[in-house]
Amino acid sequence: MSIKERVDSLVRPEVRALSAYKTVDPGNCIKLDAMENPYGWPQEMLDDWLQRLRSVEVNRYPDPEAKALKQAIYSSQGVSERFSLLLGNGSDEIIQIILMAIASEDAVVMAPEPTFVMYRQIARSLGLKFVGVPLQEDFSLDFDAMCKAIEKYRPAVLFLAYPNNPTGNLFDAGEIETLIKKTAGLVVVDEAYAPFTDETFIARVGEFENLLVMRTFSKLGLAGLRLGYLVGADGWIEQLEKLRLPYNIGSLTQACAEFALDRLELFEEQTSQIRKDRQLLLNSLAAIEGLEPMSSEANFVLFRVRQEGMTASELHECLKSTGILIKNLHGSAEALTDCLRVTVGTPSENERVISEIANIFKK
Ligand SMILES: *Cc1c(COP(=O)(O)O)cnc(C)c1O
Repeated sequence: MSIKERVDSLVRPEVRALSAYKTVDPGNCIKLDAMENPYGWPQEMLDDWLQRLRSVEVNRYPDPEAKALKQAIYSSQGVSERFSLLLGNGSDEIIQIILMAIASEDAVVMAPEPTFVMYRQIARSLGLKFVGVPLQEDFSLDFDAMCKAIEKYRPAVLFLAYPNNPTGNLFDAGEIETLIKKTAGLVVVDEAYAPFTDETFIARVGEFENLLVMRTFSKLGLAGLRLGYLVGADGWIEQLEKLRLPYNIGSLTQACAEFALDRLELFEEQTSQIRKDRQLLLNSLAAIEGLEPMSSEANFVLFRVRQEGMTASELHECLKSTGILIKNLHGSAEALTDCLRVTVGTPSENERVISEIANIFKK
């Protein structure tokens, strides 16, 4: 038997049908494709950090409950201690844990689309049916279509990214509230971009029995750590805890996150700078003829390319060859035809993007 034959007879068909999550090798490019915080830490903080890491006993297993880290999250992130916390190796792992908990032959996972691709990807990997409900042309929720889909499919889980990725907008909070009430299953409001907006459902978890709010430290400036958390009633978190692998948050991650949460002012300075620069970047993109940027409540800007003689994919390639990597969304969904997404970088990185695009269009 060949390996191929063995694979075909052994690996689940839904797994064989998937393609692995791929990223582009950035080489020496300015990296504006993955919503990372472009800023590092001051030297003194780096020194303190290394000092702190010296005391981590990597020969020992980490605290499986990450008690100190959870305490730091409660006290720094506006999470009421009335709710419980589940920690994940990135919020991706939390999505996986939630879906493992509800996985059954007829469970449906739902989200408006286009949105964060991992909801669909992880649902598929577990053999779950995924229903994507198209957003309107302006990327707001198609409220009637959502209501109808909820009635028809009775989703076990509805994911709402708030703000949404890759579109950058916030859905209407009143509509979200109604959808939470209409859904018998769980509603996960994914606030990965919470550091870049004032809107949140985090204080409203107690209002709805089926609401969970998910967050991550990735976009704040700790993407390398892989740490996300889920806030919800203990009745839910207690069940999900059974599926979390005991030591999913390593001791280095716990120590680094506690260290960073003790110094939140630095991250708040950085994210408020990014919020200001987001507006400048948006204005500059809008000023270029042939580009249509969407307003954003996240740390990126989605824009459509309507330039004679140049497609979005061509612009993406040209930028790459000048040393700037952004995300090409053309071809990933009908609604994202001709769309590119650029992460807000440092002021000089943003200026480079603008001047290179202007240059490319001149030629
Ligand atoms: C980036 C992103 C995540 C993933 O976060 P990790 O914690 O890095 O796994 C989750 N949801 C949305 C909407 C995102 O854009």
